[in-house]
Amino acid sequence: MQNQQKALFLDRDGIFIKMHYHRNVGVIDTPLVPSQVVFVPGIFDLLKHAKNMGYLLILISNQPGIGIRKINKKNFIAIKNKISQELKANSITLDGEYYCLHHPFALIKKYAVECTCRKPKTGLIDQAVKDLKIDISKSWMIGDGIYDIIGGHNAGLKTILIANITETEYLQVVESQLQDIKPTYLVKNLKQVKNLLY
Ligand SMILES: [Mg+2]
Repeated sequence: MQNQQKALFLDRDGIFIKMHYHRNVGVIDTPLVPSQVVFVPGIFDLLKHAKNMGYLLILISNQPGIGIRKINKKNFIAIKNKISQELKANSITLDGEYYCLHHPFALIKKYAVECTCRKPKTGLIDQAVKDLKIDISKSWMIGDGIYDIIGGHNAGLKTILIANITETEYLQVVESQLQDIKPTYLVKNLKQVKNLLY
């Protein structure tokens, strides 16, 4: 049977939940404990809207933190559960969650591999397409990172880059990193995504 489901593939950090400012080290990075989890404005609304349009909702995320010993597995799972609970409280269920835990320089050996699933590679998307019989030509990748757009593009998806780009220099960096790949749409925030889906 042909693949017929359409899907929204969504990056986690910066799309579902906000990046966190880690004051102790002065960097903005992925949340490391559940109390740092804050949802991005508009995410619940977008997910509900997409679901009503018949899209499957699939989270696609690189999470090398366990392997590089930045976060322990317990907190990683607690964050994952917090996201699920909060989605459930908003009557949203994901159809799939796919994580790449690898990193070429991981300190924990089993994660230190050159995998085929770490974005911009397409392994996670390909797996979901196979598992859920997804029609890639009707599906989208939504992310706030270069890797989301390159990975989505290479997997055959339409892509939406969320980036509040106000500085020309930053825009030039993004464009040069994307090389010849152009996101289907570039928008400032999640609220603008809703009207783009068709
Ligand atoms: Mg991100």
